[in-house]
Amino acid sequence: MTFRDLIECKRDGGEISVDAWHQFTRDLAAGTLADYQVSALLMAIYFRGLTERETTALMEGMLASGRSLELRHLPVGRVDKHSTGGVGDKVSIALAPIVAVCGVAVPMMSGRGLGHTGGTLDKLESIPGFRTRIPLAEATRQLEQLNCALMGQSGEIAPADRILYALRDATATVESIPLISASIMSKKMAESLTGLVLDVKTGAGSFMPKLEDALTLAHTMIAIGARHAVPVVALLTNMDAPLGEACGNANEVAESIDLLKGGGPADLRALTLRTAAEMLVLGGTDATLEGAMLRARGAVESGAALQRFREIIAAQGGDPRVCDDPAAILPQPALRIPFVAERDGIVQRVEPRIVGKGISAMGGGRNTMADTIDASVGFRITARPGDAVRVGETLAMIEARDALCAEAGRAALAAAVVIGPGAVVPRPLISHRVTTSGVERVA
Ligand code: URA
Repeated sequence: MTFRDLIECKRDGGEISVDAWHQFTRDLAAGTLADYQVSALLMAIYFRGLTERETTALMEGMLASGRSLELRHLPVGRVDKHSTGGVGDKVSIALAPIVAVCGVAVPMMSGRGLGHTGGTLDKLESIPGFRTRIPLAEATRQLEQLNCALMGQSGEIAPADRILYALRDATATVESIPLISASIMSKKMAESLTGLVLDVKTGAGSFMPKLEDALTLAHTMIAIGARHAVPVVALLTNMDAPLGEACGNANEVAESIDLLKGGGPADLRALTLRTAAEMLVLGGTDATLEGAMLRARGAVESGAALQRFREIIAAQGGDPRVCDDPAAILPQPALRIPFVAERDGIVQRVEPRIVGKGISAMGGGRNTMADTIDASVGFRITARPGDAVRVGETLAMIEARDALCAEAGRAALAAAVVIGPGAVVPRPLISHRVTTSGVERVA
């Protein structure tokens, strides 16, 4: 079969064989395919989809194109978490040390912000000296010592996925459930996991705004995990508004440290502790979610999780004093300007996409992978959908480097925060829990 035959097969809705998918990923990694032909195949996949067998075969091919983090010698369970991306989603930062100190290894491989969503790696790199590019051998040593490494996808992991992702980005074919599933799982399956928790965002600020698409994405990734004997739990969570208050980079690290000190916004705390509990149960340290939640909360209250975060930061070259005095160590904005309500009413919406694009306009996000970011800028948004507000009341703080940047932030908030007369009932933070056994509604 020539590559042209593959394109034609997918264009006409046919199924490509497992062997052909494996050959495709080998050729992709070897650089022997023409971008225009791969792009045509991607567009055919975008419109025609992939069967479960094809999605798994593509994932396996991309996994086999690189190396894996070999962690099977660790005496504890190995569980990662992946979020499909949102605004203000800083859960991973506090979650990793909480789970690690509770006895489960967390080889956390995170991404960078792109488009309107933020990325954990960018946020962590706002800590002076913090290295997220760590070779697999170093990550393994750190996992042996601290049960945790916070890293990016190195060139060693799933290189075929990196090549394909760049082409998807350039050809508007990112938003395809089988392509997203194969891409995410090719990296997760390279971590020798015994379990994985997925935070699948739904709502206005997510890549899958419709609940049915989010459920399909969850089922697809759960099925891939099951074929590789890795149990996967997916939580469907609300991204109709930013998570927590801080939206940016350095300010999100500061909010995560607040959480590790027992504070932080209630939604962020609830999602972090629930995700931690799911990871602990998957990791085998706890039999029930209730018991695991208590231990996770205890790790925060005792200061053990914050101490583990200090140790992780120090091991990765960062300044651990950030845990004691975040404002003294993290990049700070030159200006902090209140954003106030222009009328009485009820907050109808805080549009995450507009907030995320506002951060990019201020210099705190990326439009292409080559962009550099200013970690000091962003927002602290205290207004929530459903809040009753009075004219002149502060809804958010704009954190900017100069007046032009502040104006870009103000314009974004003016469009994002909608005040109206009607009552608003926000959707639940965690709406569904999905496993191989089915879909449960979360109370
Ligand atoms: N994250 C990934 O790693 N891959 C995708 O395709 C989308 C999000």
